[in-house]
Amino acid sequence: MPKAAQISEQASTGKCARCHNERLTFAIRAEKLCKECFVKYVHTKVIKRLESNKIRGGFNEPVRHILLALSLGISSVSLLHLLDTQLKERSQQGRHPGFVIHLLFIDESCISGLTSSQKQIQTVKSAFSAHELDVIPLQDCFRYGIQIDQYSRREGQSEDRATDALQRLETCLNSVSSATSKADLIHITRGRLIAAFAKQKGCTHVVYGDTTTRLAERTLEETAKGRGGHLPWLVADNVALYGVERSYPLRDLLRKELLIYASIMEPPLTLFTLDDAEPGHAASSKGNSIDLMMGQYFASVEESYPSIVANVVKTTAKLNPFISAQDAPTCDLCLLPITSKALDENGSNLCHGCSQTLNLDRRS
Ligand SMILES: [Zn+2]
Ligand SMILES: [Zn+2]
Repeated sequence: MPKAAQISEQASTGKCARCHNERLTFAIRAEKLCKECFVKYVHTKVIKRLESNKIRGGFNEPVRHILLALSLGISSVSLLHLLDTQLKERSQQGRHPGFVIHLLFIDESCISGLTSSQKQIQTVKSAFSAHELDVIPLQDCFRYGIQIDQYSRREGQSEDRATDALQRLETCLNSVSSATSKADLIHITRGRLIAAFAKQKGCTHVVYGDTTTRLAERTLEETAKGRGGHLPWLVADNVALYGVERSYPLRDLLRKELLIYASIMEPPLTLFTLDDAEPGHAASSKGNSIDLMMGQYFASVEESYPSIVANVVKTTAKLNPFISAQDAPTCDLCLLPITSKALDENGSNLCHGCSQTLNLDRRS
C-alpha cells in the first residue's frame, strides 16, 4: 500500500482540469485535479451510488437505517468519513438527513492473532460520536443462531463438548488446514453475523467500503474458491442477502483514489485504521491465502491499468443470477442458492464452494 509520502510525491503543481486554477494537483485517471475538485469528485461518486441504490430516503420518505460494516481498513473508514461529512452538511443546511448510520465492528482479535483494535475503536468513537458504534466478537455468531461448526465437527465430537463459543469457533477453524479455507469460513461467518445484527437493529441496508479494486479482487477470489456462480449475489449492489440489502457505495472509486482522499483529510484518516485490516491479512497466519495474493496482484494492476480493474467489476455487475434465490435450494453454510448439486458426505446441502472449503484438507 502506498504510504502518505508516496502520495504527496504523486502531487504536482499545475492547472486543475476542473476549476482551472494553478494549484497542487493529483493525477486522477486521465485528469489532474486540485484538492477541492478531487474531494468533490469522490463525494459525487458516492452520492450518485447512494441515490441510485435508494439508500438515502428522499424528502417525503422515512429516514433509512443503514449499518456500516467497519473493518478499520482504509476503505470502510473512508466510507464512514464520507457519509458523516454528508450528514453534517445536510444538517447545516437544515435538510432532511435521509439516513441514520449504525456502525458495527466485528472483533476477530481472539481468533486471528490481530493486534488489539481497542485504541482505534476509541479514536473512531470520539471522532464520529454522532453514530452508534457496536463491537461484537466473531464467536457471537452462535448467539445469533449461526451454527458455523455444523459441518466441520469430526466424528465423535459432539456440540456440547465445546460449550465455550470461542473454543467452538477455534475448533471449527482449525478443522480446515489451508489459509484459504480458514479465511473463507471467517468471511462467511462475518457476513452472516453482520446481517443478523443489522436485522436486529432494524437496519434495511448494510453498506461495505469495498472499492472497484477490492470488488475486482473478490470477483477473482470467489471464482478461484469455486463460488463463481454466486458472483451476482456477492459483488452486486442492492442484493438481499441474509435478509438485508447489501451495497457498496465506493464501487466507482479505485483504492488508490481512496488512499489519496484519506491522506489529504485533516487529520489523515490513517489515524483510525488498523494495518492488519487490509484484505487477506487475517488469514495470512498460515501461508498465503488467495485473498492476500489477489490483493497484491490488483495493487500492481491498478497502478498501470485502472480501466482493467473497473471492467472486471462492470462485467460482473451485468451477470444475472441464473435463478432467483427464493426458487432454489440454498446452501446450509453460506445460505446462497446451490448452483450444482453437491451433496456432502453427511447428506447435507452444501454448495460447491462450501464443500470445497470444508473438504479441502479433511482427513476422514
Ligand atoms: Zn480544481
Ligand atoms: Zn455454500
